[in-house]
Amino acid sequence: MMKRVLTTCPYCGVGCNFYLDVRDSRIVGIIPSKSNSVSQGRLCVKGWHAHEPIQHPDRLKKPLIKENGKFKEVSWDFALDYVAGRLKEIKDKYGPDSLAVCTSARCTNEENFLMMKFARAVLGTNNVDHCARTCHSATVSGLNQSFGSGASTNSYDELPFMDCILIIGSNPTEAHPIAGWRVRTAIDNGAKIIVCDPRKILPAEDASVFIQQFPGSDIALINAMINYIVTENLHDKEFIQQRTEGFNELWEAVKDCSPESVKDITGVEPALIKKAAQLYAVSKKACIMYSLGMTEHTVGTDNVIAMANLAMVCGQVGKEFSGIYPMRGQNNVQGACDIGALPNVYSGYQPVTDETARKKFEKAWGVSLPKEKGLTLTDMMYKAIEGKLKCFYIIGEDQIRTDPNSHWIEKALDSLEFLVVQEIFMSDTAKKADVVLPGASFAEKEGTFTCAERRFQRVRKAIEPIAGKTDGEIICEIAKRLGYAMEDNPSKVCDEMASLTPLFSGVSFDRLEDNGLQWPVHSKEHPGTPVVHLEKFIRGLGKLIPVKHKPPAEIPDGEYPFILTTGRMLFHYNTGTMTRRTANLNREYPRNFVQINSTDAQRLGIKNKLRVRVKTRRGELEVSAEVTDKIKAGVIWMPFHFSEAPTNVLTNNAFDPVCRIGEYKACAARVEKVNS
Ligand code: SF4
Repeated sequence: MMKRVLTTCPYCGVGCNFYLDVRDSRIVGIIPSKSNSVSQGRLCVKGWHAHEPIQHPDRLKKPLIKENGKFKEVSWDFALDYVAGRLKEIKDKYGPDSLAVCTSARCTNEENFLMMKFARAVLGTNNVDHCARTCHSATVSGLNQSFGSGASTNSYDELPFMDCILIIGSNPTEAHPIAGWRVRTAIDNGAKIIVCDPRKILPAEDASVFIQQFPGSDIALINAMINYIVTENLHDKEFIQQRTEGFNELWEAVKDCSPESVKDITGVEPALIKKAAQLYAVSKKACIMYSLGMTEHTVGTDNVIAMANLAMVCGQVGKEFSGIYPMRGQNNVQGACDIGALPNVYSGYQPVTDETARKKFEKAWGVSLPKEKGLTLTDMMYKAIEGKLKCFYIIGEDQIRTDPNSHWIEKALDSLEFLVVQEIFMSDTAKKADVVLPGASFAEKEGTFTCAERRFQRVRKAIEPIAGKTDGEIICEIAKRLGYAMEDNPSKVCDEMASLTPLFSGVSFDRLEDNGLQWPVHSKEHPGTPVVHLEKFIRGLGKLIPVKHKPPAEIPDGEYPFILTTGRMLFHYNTGTMTRRTANLNREYPRNFVQINSTDAQRLGIKNKLRVRVKTRRGELEVSAEVTDKIKAGVIWMPFHFSEAPTNVLTNNAFDPVCRIGEYKACAARVEKVNS
């Protein structure tokens, strides 16, 4: 018996659609959806193989409870009774804020909504967060201050028709390949590309301007562009006057920041900065595409604000064929933010400190809700080490492998009294748990994901949950044992979300059947919103906010002379939980490596493919060297997909003070030859 089920890719935030081919309850293949507006019949190599890990023999199939340091299989009833009992015990003993939950950007919007409701209405705490903290929390905090909304301003469909695309801190060809295909189409259509990246990534081959700045110098670079644009009278005076506020304050901050003055900070020739500034400013249709190269810094929020300043000064936002595209990393990280899996907001970014919003949710949920903001994921770790956070319930995250400074995360998790991890495969974080609950993959559930262009799309069940329950069902069953009934039907959960959230009050499963809907969707008749901030910014006037260069928390010195920066590769995805279990993908890149500039390698006597030791103040790893001219001298680069050589033992747990994102993209490191 064969069936074909249309669904949404579980990997990156582009949100391609494909059909899962199911034969006799097994998924046997994938066919791209031609009619889907996001992917238009294309998939990247990860999408083509997205079905392979689903039925991998390593899948967790039974709940596990640790006894004397070893896991033993137990029944669902036993595990759920045990988890509910321990949560109650800890809450009664230490209070609700001694508990925290981490939801998952891999799960559906409906499951994230249930988990944030569980934290707030059942556990009684706003200590709820997810992995956006470590990827795009700077986007939410930065764009929200500038525009009043922390999401992409425009749609993918506009990319091929741009005159100019400024790509900064983003490698669309590898990390968001179908968005990268649209960039390629724009190039073929004649668009000029500006690439700013410490590595000569693929789009740089076709760029009109390629700027190879030092990691951590982006504000200096962008401020110098603004300085040049205003000095040369290329700014959009009408837009600035009618649509923005704060221009004089911004100019005060950038007036001395000429391209010449930032040469030592950025390592970039002034003529290149001027060329890029001119091209971006004079193009009729220009946009900025960025990703974690901009956000994962101690100045992540300010980096995002700097880009918003640049766009507003040039009038390249608030209209079609312009804007800012934050390229979201995970399939549903946009949605997890939107539905309120954050410690300070309910769904649709309604603040938990706003009494009107709180009362609305209290009325709907029939309980009193906590009034204070909860802890961010970052601060949960600090509180665990301080002994103030006692219990953590994590869904679909391997924090030991994804968060900066793995040893620090291990210490935090070891400090807890009770750790529950809900996962589809045994992870390093799950190994630390007291209870492991087997979750369900994207192919085993109904629901929605929201991709990086704010588009809700359907996720559809192709096979029954391999371990017997969806993640939403597990959450609801624990809630029930704690005396609180929650609806677990995904379509009804979507309706509940919509009824409480003005930003997407017109969203329902039946309206998402074809190509989904881009929020805001204000009513059942509203067609969705491909471009936001059209006549005015969501906050009213766009705010030009002065930001100044600050160096990374660690800068190179005699002992650690390199800047280590990290990133994602085409063939792998985050911790490699799924792609390392996909034979064709793992075959291409089966192990970790470090890219080093050939001049630096020659000086250190390092040869291509030979083993080297990479050291930082937090740890060390042995990997092979990839000697290349594609990386700037003085900078080294590593991917982070390999749990047997995990790059995040090296990265720095220094954090942005506003959004609490970690500084993955710049820390001091040394590289040594391994003599053996
Ligand atoms: Fe999936 Fe992203 Fe590849 Fe599309 S580009 S197939 S969403 S991984």
